[in-house]
Amino acid sequence: MTATDDHYRVIIIGSGPAGLTAAIYTARADLEPLIIEGIQPGGQLTITSEVENYPGFPDGILGPQLMDLFRRQAERFGATYITDVVSGVDLSERPFKVTVGRKMLLADAIIISTGATARLLGLESESRLMGHGVSACATCDGWFFRDKEIVVIGGGDSACEEANYLTKFAGRVTIIHRRDELRASKIMRKRVFDNPKIEILWNHIPVEFIGGETALEGVRVKNTKTGDESIFKCNGAFLAIGHRPNTDLFKDEISLDAVGYIVTEADSTKTDIPGIFACGDVQDHIYRQAVTAAGSGCMAAIDAERFLTEQEV
Ligand code: NAP
Repeated sequence: MTATDDHYRVIIIGSGPAGLTAAIYTARADLEPLIIEGIQPGGQLTITSEVENYPGFPDGILGPQLMDLFRRQAERFGATYITDVVSGVDLSERPFKVTVGRKMLLADAIIISTGATARLLGLESESRLMGHGVSACATCDGWFFRDKEIVVIGGGDSACEEANYLTKFAGRVTIIHRRDELRASKIMRKRVFDNPKIEILWNHIPVEFIGGETALEGVRVKNTKTGDESIFKCNGAFLAIGHRPNTDLFKDEISLDAVGYIVTEADSTKTDIPGIFACGDVQDHIYRQAVTAAGSGCMAAIDAERFLTEQEV
């Protein structure tokens, strides 16, 4: 099996820490991987601020900068990139088929690293005001809310991280959480409780974002204990209620779990189709860290390389 213009040994779909680590390893194994990096290359880290927990960066590093380093490292060993999205896959026989725009590409092995996307509440007013006061990315949009009143919805590490980050700009940040206890880790909780600009509205959920076409004026919230509704005035609302795996492309081809994550064999990145491997947040709903995604990207590259070697033998 040799690579030709449209036939690759390995195609990697997705370009977060998992995909780009798989790219570094497969490139160094002379597999000349093609990475289809999407239209927003770099994955979720490109919309985060400072990454403080990636080993090797004692002073922290900006997410986009870290992903750029990953990308350049893979490129150095011969990885190539297409900045586009995959519109279809056919995994029923080898070589596998991957459609990108009008082009059909062939692959002897595929590494899926399409990650996960921020969850939304699903309210009509949420989509209407998205980008006009409602956001799912504090790093992207926090700057617009200097000295304003902001709410963050959620009670996990993301909500705490976003709330802390937003206090750089906002006059006051209120976390709206549906329970009376944060899910976030101890250190993140402490940062929230120690930050004088952050308050918490316990036992509430948003039921409507209120505002005209272009500006948020408040959030109608419902008390989860009493059912009472009230209006919380604010200029910005940031959603931080978790993520959804990006597996729509594969749902008819590959085994997914009950919530849509790709199922992989224990201690492996093998899916139920030989030659298809999955790594990073698309198959991990437990750890979801850049470093664990990178680790599983390395595993996927090694699994793919072994698979291709076995095929040749
Ligand atoms: P998460 O841990 O799943 O938390 C989601 C939060 O949103 C929960 O508090 C949940 O409430 C709430 N929620 C979910 N659906 C909701 C709804 N429909 N309405 C209202 N509230 C809703 O997600 P995450 O905070 O994004 O974190 C994901 C993973 O990434 C975690 O493993 C986390 O540790 C990690 N992470 C780490 C860092 C860091 O270390 N710097 C930063 C960000 C994320 P309940 O608590 O009631 O379920």
